Amino acid sequence: MPNTVNNVTPHADLLKTAQAVLGNAYAPYSRFQVGAAILGVDGNIYAGCNVENAAYPEGQCAEASAIAAMVAGGCLEIAQICIVKKSTKTDSAQVAPCGGCRQKINEFARADTPIFVHGKGGDLKSYTLGALLPVAFGKQDLGKKDLGEK
Ligand SMILES: [Zn+2]
Repeated sequence: MPNTVNNVTPHADLLKTAQAVLGNAYAPYSRFQVGAAILGVDGNIYAGCNVENAAYPEGQCAEASAIAAMVAGGCLEIAQICIVKKSTKTDSAQVAPCGGCRQKINEFARADTPIFVHGKGGDLKSYTLGALLPVAFGKQDLGKKDLGEK
């Protein structure tokens, strides 16, 4: 995987913020609670959790919630993002962002932006956005070049 960044470490407060917000996840249907924390380029950390809905398609992923918090806070670029779920030692599932969230992250990140995810057994794995969303469609395809260009 050419764009994987195994030696990048998350910001000191990123993981604990994601784990803290995980406890607020509203997931009564899937019982799959997810927390996300974004380090914005402004140095602030923005948190979000998944919010499900009885009308299932109206639910929102943790990454989307964290992105909304970042934008509401006035920041338009992700420096790092960390996504965690409740996990046990025997849990083999990884909480990689869904395809829709990869696209949402792409709107506010670069190909080399680190994405940290809860991996097997609760360890943290690191990827780049470019590794998770190669050949991405983005604002450059619509003639927009800079992040934050409105
Ligand atoms: Zn998602």
